[in-house]
Amino acid sequence: AFDVLVVGGGPAGAAAAIYAARKGIRTGVAAERFGGQVLDTMAIENFISVPYTEGPKLAAALEQHVKEYEADIMNLQRAVKLIPAADQGGEHEVEFASGARLKSKTLILSTGARWREMNVPGEAEYRNKGVAYCPHCDGPLFKGKRVAVIGGGNSGVEAAIDLAGIVGHVTLIEFMDEMRADAVLQKKLKSLPNVEIILGARTTEVNGDGTRVNGLTYEERASGEIKRLELEGIFVQIGLVPNTEWLTDSPIELSQRGEIVIDERGMTSVPGIFAAGDVTTVPYKQIVIAMGEGSKAALGAFDYLIRH
Ligand code: FAD
Repeated sequence: AFDVLVVGGGPAGAAAAIYAARKGIRTGVAAERFGGQVLDTMAIENFISVPYTEGPKLAAALEQHVKEYEADIMNLQRAVKLIPAADQGGEHEVEFASGARLKSKTLILSTGARWREMNVPGEAEYRNKGVAYCPHCDGPLFKGKRVAVIGGGNSGVEAAIDLAGIVGHVTLIEFMDEMRADAVLQKKLKSLPNVEIILGARTTEVNGDGTRVNGLTYEERASGEIKRLELEGIFVQIGLVPNTEWLTDSPIELSQRGEIVIDERGMTSVPGIFAAGDVTTVPYKQIVIAMGEGSKAALGAFDYLIRH
């Protein structure tokens, strides 16, 4: 059995494993895909103190850093069930799709999140080649260019306002006939000179020249008419989904959006079970934030262990 079992091997999980292992306690990390979302990223320019790196390189560095310590890395293990300890101070258990079961005095859940995709032709092909999901990450790559933001909820409208200050022109595309974002955000968006808003439009295709995005095709839902926009970038903002499906039958408190609720030390509603990174309610999903949160959860778990 472990003292700390980290479930998830992205930036949050890697940081948690390193902080835990450095305390000399029995530490394990089980992940479906070690590296997490970083593996799907190319240019990373906001990893503080590293002006430029690339996702696969950072993912390899994360794994290598964890391997400096005596932490058990169990890759390709998908957690399917959480069985909390029967009494406080007892061992929690995690069941994996492989049938394996692991026990630990504390757990750190860091299973991350995934961006909801449009699932239209061209989206996957041009991912990181014009199709982006994170304005904080990739906005500056489109300086002076034309972009579309897909989605008129809070995240879409926030992204459009943010991007309007960096890029040349922003077209916001919303499927419904009105935006769902807060009125104050909509008002701000409408006040910007380089933003156009298209309502009642269904994106049907991401267009490109084989190398990069050069347009977007959409259907005007009312008329059924097909239209095309010439542009260089598309930010998809139709939701970030936390990977907590495996926890819905557990007593861990989740927010309305399915994110794990944590306290200031990273502890969930179940004593001894901690969580960190994109899977939690902590806002602004970023690598440096996930790493900080993972470190914090590991210190929280250590604190818990020395008291139980
Ligand atoms: P994740 O990275 O999502 O890792 C989750 C881990 O849990 C993975 O190992 C996964 O396999 C595992 N897992 C999931 N479910 C299970 C399960 N049931 N059982 C076991 N393991 C499971 N951020 C930046 O700061 N800068 C950028 O430039 C940047 N660019 C990005 C570009 C793209 C295309 C994307 C998708 C994201 C980008 N981000 C960027 C965001 C950043 O990648 C995330 O904020 C960060 O990876 C979150 O770390 P995490 O450890 O919380 O979760």
